[in-house]
Amino acid sequence: MMRRAITLILVQFLMFHASGQDGATFEPPVKIPMYLSGNFGEIRSDHFHSGIDIKTQGTTGHHVSSVEKGYVSRIKVQANGYGKSIYISHPNGYTSVYGHLDRYRDDIAAYVKRMQYKQQSHMVDLYLSKETFPMEKGEFIAFSGNSGSSSGPHLHFEIRSSANQHPTNVLSYNFEIKDLVAPRFHSIFLYPMDKNCKINGKTERFSSKIVRDKGIYTIPYSSTVEASGVLGISVEVFDYLDGASNRCGVHTLEMFVDNKLSYSHVMDEFAFSETRYINAHIDYEERIKSGKKAHRLHRLPNDRLRIYNQALENKPLLVDESRNYSIRIVATDVAGNSSTLEFTLKGSEGNNEVPIANEGEVTYMKYNQVNSFEKGPVHLEIPAYSLYQDLDFSFQSSPQADGSLTPFYQIANIEVPVHKAYTLSIKKPDYVRSLNRKLLLISYNDKHEIVSAGGTFQDGYIVAKLRNFGEFAVGLDTIAPRIMPHGSTGGDFSAKKELRFTIEDELSGIAKYEGYIDNQWALFEYDPKNKLLYYSFDEQHISKDSEHELELYVSDEKGNVNLHHTTFNW
Ligand SMILES: [Zn+2]
Repeated sequence: MMRRAITLILVQFLMFHASGQDGATFEPPVKIPMYLSGNFGEIRSDHFHSGIDIKTQGTTGHHVSSVEKGYVSRIKVQANGYGKSIYISHPNGYTSVYGHLDRYRDDIAAYVKRMQYKQQSHMVDLYLSKETFPMEKGEFIAFSGNSGSSSGPHLHFEIRSSANQHPTNVLSYNFEIKDLVAPRFHSIFLYPMDKNCKINGKTERFSSKIVRDKGIYTIPYSSTVEASGVLGISVEVFDYLDGASNRCGVHTLEMFVDNKLSYSHVMDEFAFSETRYINAHIDYEERIKSGKKAHRLHRLPNDRLRIYNQALENKPLLVDESRNYSIRIVATDVAGNSSTLEFTLKGSEGNNEVPIANEGEVTYMKYNQVNSFEKGPVHLEIPAYSLYQDLDFSFQSSPQADGSLTPFYQIANIEVPVHKAYTLSIKKPDYVRSLNRKLLLISYNDKHEIVSAGGTFQDGYIVAKLRNFGEFAVGLDTIAPRIMPHGSTGGDFSAKKELRFTIEDELSGIAKYEGYIDNQWALFEYDPKNKLLYYSFDEQHISKDSEHELELYVSDEKGNVNLHHTTFNW
């Protein structure tokens, strides 16, 4: 038994060190010292972070260069996501990715613009051959920025395996990023995983802050934990790196029960197709309730992440004896710093009394089967493996409408994560005379504001594919987006570099934007986080010192279009 354990540890050790230490060496992508605001594998919404976020001293415009020789294999421009990004394939089998760029170097920028005009689209996804832009190690490629879904100037940097495009742990290569700080535990959560489970006499979740005592993290002595039955444990733990206060992700997390390893994961690599399993990996209910990002120390049945130790069952804890259970949780970072959380759980046998049946309408749904549900005007179809575990599905209808054409229907619970999209159909009420194509489903955001949940009219129903549960109703969007010019709407722009507009939509959201100058398609760039739409004057496409006509169309997801029409001199 002991020998087997040692062999397993050895195998894991060798597997981990094979990645990143196969001779691949890289140069830093920036010339400034590398301090991180984010690292590989940290918890984000609906995904694990796939690279590192390098701080750029609060400003844009820092030189970004290729970390190894190779060639530009892909250039992607998105309004959201990585914004302006560049991918470089290297002969060592890795691809480096640089995101949220401000602008590409001149020859690359000219190439991208040519393709944008050719495709008549701001957003492009270009795959390039070896010959177009070959790269030397350290060659300048772009200026750092804040484009796409970025909340401040920084460089998003990834190293992927070229063959399968899996992002790998950037910190396991040779970059000079100092980390002498060990991970820190912040809070712990215990929650029932079966109906007989009791924690401190209750069937509710238990949560506690974590304190540090003589170098060991623990639950404060004032709060004891008594439990029986099957329970889950999750911990809020972050790594910190030198020179930054940002919360980063840990590299490994392990739990020992009575000194026996019961759970383990290593964050070295994942596939983009599996990153959404983060909603199974984290304590999703706690995330919704408090916003805290806690790792479960067990694997849910339909969590297919590759990060778990395959030799373990990674099951929730079964407490069925009246004795003390010693729990030890160990977190490490890539640099090898580690922290330990220890506490004693007072176990009891429990009494296995038959729990009181749930009130109201509850349908038991198995996660590995197709589940359908129908009640009055509401129809639901949940594909197999859309849920991470079996669910006591609940349904309720609120008596009143709230800015909606129907009552709000409570579909399961917002604290239950959804993996694959399910289909929700709500019948169009008979009294509604509006245009069918303006109907959509609406829901609430976390500020309890009404937001679009999408959907289209089909055979008397408004049908939407959804990836979360919660409250939904039928709504209507007949209002076109607003287009607000910065400064004057027309006139003399000869000294200006750009035409700028704020664009906004009430409900369904901006779907399309198209600008024409003198009846020719013109490149308008959209920056959703700033609600900004802008055109950079360009002598290659319009002639200088003359009068021009601008037509700008902005439409929403429900086909409501606004046109801004003006003339100007440039
Ligand atoms: Zn990033």
